[in-house]
Amino acid sequence: MKKKINIRLGVIALIAIITTALGVTLAYYNLFQVQVRNDLKQNAKLLMETEVFQNAYGQADGKTEALNHLSSGNLRITWIDEDGTVLFDNDTDVTGLSNHLDRPEIQQALKFGEGESIRKSDTMNMSTFYYALLLENGTVLRVSTQARTITSVLVSAIPVILVISIFILLVCILLGHFLTRNLMRPIEEVAENLDEPNTTLVYKELEPFADKIRSQHENILAAAKSRQDFTANVSHELKTPITAISGYAELIENQIVDGEAEIHIAKQIRQNSDRLLSLINDIIQLSELDHNELPRKFEQVDLYSIAKDCVEDLRSFADSKSVTLSFDGTAAGITADPTLIREMVDNLVQNAIRYNKENGHVQVFVTIENGHSIISVKDTGIGIPADQLDRVFERFYRVDKSRSRETGGTGLGLAIVKHIAEIHSAEISINSTLGEGTEIVINF
Ligand code: ADP
Repeated sequence: MKKKINIRLGVIALIAIITTALGVTLAYYNLFQVQVRNDLKQNAKLLMETEVFQNAYGQADGKTEALNHLSSGNLRITWIDEDGTVLFDNDTDVTGLSNHLDRPEIQQALKFGEGESIRKSDTMNMSTFYYALLLENGTVLRVSTQARTITSVLVSAIPVILVISIFILLVCILLGHFLTRNLMRPIEEVAENLDEPNTTLVYKELEPFADKIRSQHENILAAAKSRQDFTANVSHELKTPITAISGYAELIENQIVDGEAEIHIAKQIRQNSDRLLSLINDIIQLSELDHNELPRKFEQVDLYSIAKDCVEDLRSFADSKSVTLSFDGTAAGITADPTLIREMVDNLVQNAIRYNKENGHVQVFVTIENGHSIISVKDTGIGIPADQLDRVFERFYRVDKSRSRETGGTGLGLAIVKHIAEIHSAEISINSTLGEGTEIVINF
């Protein structure tokens, strides 16, 4: 950023310096030209007014005598006869000079009374300015002087421009340094205090960006915390059945039990192993769902027939819990991963049976509402306290721990349901009355 600001400031400064230098030189040179031409005009008029040329015309002796007083200084004076013959030149011997009738300033003077022209000199960096004036006797008086060309003026200005440029560039580097430091300080402060929600950024324009970074930071922290909690919960959940299995095995090893007690212990070991297995299965399932990048096998499926199969499979489980199970509805097409949908329905119906009452009822219903396929699993069970309705979808959250364990729950069923619903962009709504029952609806 610092480098970019420095480069940009430098480029802007260079453009400013070059255009200013060009502009000033051009304006100065125009003024200078006007001045030179005015001076020439003035000089020619003064010379004409002295009448030295009119007097000298045709007087062979007097001509040189009077004119020789005109010194050859910066101003070159040429006197030309109306046929173009050079009668006098204060700089050169006239005998060597060619006819001047073709010179533009002479032609203009003969025609209009006065004429001007500028010609490049042999030396590249000088120009000659000419001014010619027609005298009363028909001869032409021409004055000229040499002045520098605009290129030579510019070339001579280059060292000054260079020195100014270097100075300004140094100022830009210094300015860029302070500018970036001042610009960056508030941003760095926000970065250092990401945990402080009240730190406000001085720049209003960057507020959405800072908010985004802050919320991402919070999400990262929350994700890290939830991973930590999950690992701690998993370890704890795995430890309980393993400790039980190990304890029962120790009893057998020490031959403390016999007969019926042995059967009881074997049953306990099997139940704990089953629990361990379902826990591991659910953890694997969740970690697979967590990998969003995995390709999903989405296809067009019928929610009704998936749910129907699932309900049929759970009939004997419902019977064992003295719960009646009914299924109804219409065909409802969805684009989904059928294995996941089955898993979701299975978890919902199992919960409805497990958290039910003796002779309770579970009703599964599939239909299409406002163009959306929905499935509803409604039971006449124990219900969920209103203040815990949101929490039951959290991993390992159980309303009644012992009942969940007794019935083979892992505390992960609804977390899996929530995950599967998210993958399919489906909405979950839950309705429950304590002691009366629960209804969970998934809207695709
Ligand atoms: P679990 O394996 O313990 O059933 P879930 O994630 O499936 O775990 O459910 C979380 C908790 O929500 C359960 O322990 C139970 O307390 C409560 N719950 C879930 N479904 C129902 C239901 N249909 N009726 C009453 N309580 C329920």
